[in-house]
Amino acid sequence: MTGATAVADLISVPVQPFNSAGIPLELDKVCVVAFEDNAPPWRNDHLWRAAGSTLRYLIHLHQDRLNPSREAAGCIKNLLSGIDDMLDRLGKKTCARCIAPCCRVADVSYDFRDLLYIHMTDQVIPPGQPRRSGGEVCCYLGPSGCLIPRFGRPWICTWYICADQKNYLAGHQEIAGDRLQSEIESIRMLRKQMEKSFIDAVATDG
Ligand code: SF4
Repeated sequence: MTGATAVADLISVPVQPFNSAGIPLELDKVCVVAFEDNAPPWRNDHLWRAAGSTLRYLIHLHQDRLNPSREAAGCIKNLLSGIDDMLDRLGKKTCARCIAPCCRVADVSYDFRDLLYIHMTDQVIPPGQPRRSGGEVCCYLGPSGCLIPRFGRPWICTWYICADQKNYLAGHQEIAGDRLQSEIESIRMLRKQMEKSFIDAVATDG
């Protein structure tokens, strides 16, 4: 069972969205399809908001048991900030000469762990998925690159090191490729840990 499926099971109950002050509003049945397995999820405004309000509700409800998940999320944020410079330099060497850079052609999206991590680290929630449909350029691509700080981007924007980048790292010493891969692996493990701690917490009665 994936984390998304597990959470879908957990939230198949009436959910209270919150107003801007964080106070639950009237009962509303949030569409469970918001947590379907088939990626990429939450492509329209309704599902994106439903996913966010459901997570906020669960976090509010189980906040006393969420410290392990929050701690893992905080470590992820620190590690992402720590490799930002390396990835920026790598991108300048490789993406700049790429004829089909990922930010223009790849179908990137926020997944469940991304959304959980962003909520757990109290970041500003992005207004929606980077792409609503196939064939679009990522809406967060600005004239000088990504408009979102590294620690708030979809994880795929960080972990994916293309063949050209691997070649560059293998042939140049100025970017510590081994350290980069090791930090990416650490983040991958922490994301699993964060999600598991979250699911354990929200699945526990009382
Ligand atoms: S979110 Fe940023 S890094 Fe990721 S594809 Fe969009 S512009 Fe590129």
